[in-house]
Amino acid sequence: SITAVTSPFRNYLTDLYQKYRKLNDGAVADYIPELALAKPEWFGICVVTKDGQVFEVGDCDKLFTIQSISKAFVFGLALEDHGREYVNSKVSVEPTGEAFNSIVLDEATNRPYNPMVNAGAIATADLIEGENGTERLKRLLEMFKRYTGREHDINVPVFLSEKATGFRNRAMAYLMRNFGMISDKIDETLDLYFQQCSILVNAKDLAMLAATLGNGGVNPVTGERAIDERYVQDVISVMLTCGMYDASGEWCYRVGMPAKSGVGGGITAVVPGKLGIGTFSPLLDAKGNSVRGIKVCEDLSQDFGLHLFNAA
Ligand code: GLU
Repeated sequence: SITAVTSPFRNYLTDLYQKYRKLNDGAVADYIPELALAKPEWFGICVVTKDGQVFEVGDCDKLFTIQSISKAFVFGLALEDHGREYVNSKVSVEPTGEAFNSIVLDEATNRPYNPMVNAGAIATADLIEGENGTERLKRLLEMFKRYTGREHDINVPVFLSEKATGFRNRAMAYLMRNFGMISDKIDETLDLYFQQCSILVNAKDLAMLAATLGNGGVNPVTGERAIDERYVQDVISVMLTCGMYDASGEWCYRVGMPAKSGVGGGITAVVPGKLGIGTFSPLLDAKGNSVRGIKVCEDLSQDFGLHLFNAA
């Protein structure tokens, strides 16, 4: 791995960091006390290129919980475990235009709308194979390690809080069980879902996750394959249509990068065939997306012509 200390691109990122450092719009998530402890000033930007160069500015080692960003990658593992047809029989890939915690299922098929809303993410977590909860969590943590090149832990207080307060998620699981969309391992799967949301990552990890997807599923620094090549496009396309909560259309229009955000303040954004971006800033807008993270990705998209449909 090449970590550039000074370079024109690193200087550009430093300027971006300075430009948005003082932007204090938005608020930290506070639905559980642990997330409300996040400091508004935390801010990190990391870019990892397809050839393994790593550019980091700001708080790129600071750990926070991955939250909804996990959903994209767990979807990839479910596809590896069961294949496209079976997974799609349990979870659709249609954007909802509704909030991430919408309890609405597709009326015709009773499927949750997509793997990026909570209901769909719980149905996806249900598909993760393993003898028991411990085995299944271990498989998730090993998967994240393949993507980032680093061991991951969960933040236990966040997990326990999510579990203690996640009544709405529990209700969705039971509703889906009623329709035969998930198995009888309801509590085990809910624990797995709350644990996956509580996995600790930093901005650099988010850039590695994105760079790996953008590199056909192979981590560009370690050379390790993280996901079967044939499912990379599945994950990336759902990120493009559903990854930024109910602002995914606007994001696609303005930024044009398949991405996923989480209420911990992270965004992971893929520029297929080129690079991955990871941003961390816990101040969120009304939809749950990091305010500074959006700004950083908008600027990168415009300044380097990285919009997916840029034909220039
Ligand atoms: N852990 C959250 C929940 O299940 C998801 C948070 C997020 O959207 O990032 O409600």
